[in-house]
Amino acid sequence: MARIQVLDQMTIDKIAAGEVIERPASIVKELVENAVDAGASTVTVEIEDGGIALIRITDNGCGILREDIRNAFLRHSTSKIRCVEDLSRISSLGFRGEALSSIAAVAKVELITKPGEDAFGTRYVIEGGREVSMEDAGAADGTTFCVRQLFYNVPARRKFLKTAITEAGHVQDLLMRLALSHPEVGFRFLNHGQEKLRTSGSGKLDEVIYSIYGRDVASNLLELDHRAPGIRIRGYIGKPVITRGNRNFETFFVNGRYVKSAMISRALEDACKDFMMQHKFPFAVLAFEIDGEQVDVNVHPTKMELRFQKQQEVYNTVFEGIHRRLLEPELIPRVEVPE
Ligand code: ADP
Ligand code: MG
Repeated sequence: MARIQVLDQMTIDKIAAGEVIERPASIVKELVENAVDAGASTVTVEIEDGGIALIRITDNGCGILREDIRNAFLRHSTSKIRCVEDLSRISSLGFRGEALSSIAAVAKVELITKPGEDAFGTRYVIEGGREVSMEDAGAADGTTFCVRQLFYNVPARRKFLKTAITEAGHVQDLLMRLALSHPEVGFRFLNHGQEKLRTSGSGKLDEVIYSIYGRDVASNLLELDHRAPGIRIRGYIGKPVITRGNRNFETFFVNGRYVKSAMISRALEDACKDFMMQHKFPFAVLAFEIDGEQVDVNVHPTKMELRFQKQQEVYNTVFEGIHRRLLEPELIPRVEVPE
């Protein structure tokens, strides 16, 4: 008998899911990004047991048409791109069409959704990649995903999860960044029914910073708006009086997408070095608008690390913009802090 076999689809999906879904926070990232892509103006995230027992995400976005629901849970199914050329002009956060199939492969998922134009909503249940039911349901416009018992069918992965408290911390940290990257969306986060985060959705980044980090940070910010060819950097850096003990207070977005970038961190820190004590890190929330062709978001399934066409130029622009701003203390605009 031959020894090499093609794996069955369920096994393939479970393995592939591991690339996208590492922990509850990965699910929250994917589903919140979907909600933002769906045009939601409010997104509520609720978790229990660090998201291992339950993650519920409710949005008021465009909803999913009933005839699209089964497709949405197939691998590589997306409404966001149609061909490879679209990759260079992506404006949505998602495009790989991997999240829903991955989540459904390793958890029990209930979806309730209703597009504004439909009279009825639909309730769809899929567990471990197997459809359980699809039926009419009364629902508000928008979409709710309930994800229960993460990794119930992949014990090896479950073992790698940390305590509920640690996992809840990862979820909260991620939601803070997503809220910062989308000031136009009102976010609410509840852990075991307790509200941990709330932003207004007013569109004002300094208000989001205030909601998340409080008055001490919000009243010590320098606003930044720096342009160079093909790139614009907007946001806030903390005045040197509010330096932090670690890098967790550096948040970057590139074209609306929360990213990590060692290169941007380095440029920021190098620019701040002369103004801060050693072993301290700046506070910064920076939104980059970079010509879509200059960045490749297609690097990793979780899309956190970007590749820039012109690394050195981006470094220089970040360094210059920030350095120059720090040298102009007399130009500090007063940031209005709500009472
Ligand atoms: P991607 O986001 O890469 O397209 P996903 O697997 O995350 O892939 O989602 C598949 C499709 O399901 C999306 O392209 C979108 O059409 C639809 N979808 C997912 N979540 C939502 C949502 N909250 N509201 C509306 N449509 C959604
Ligand atoms: Mg997606």
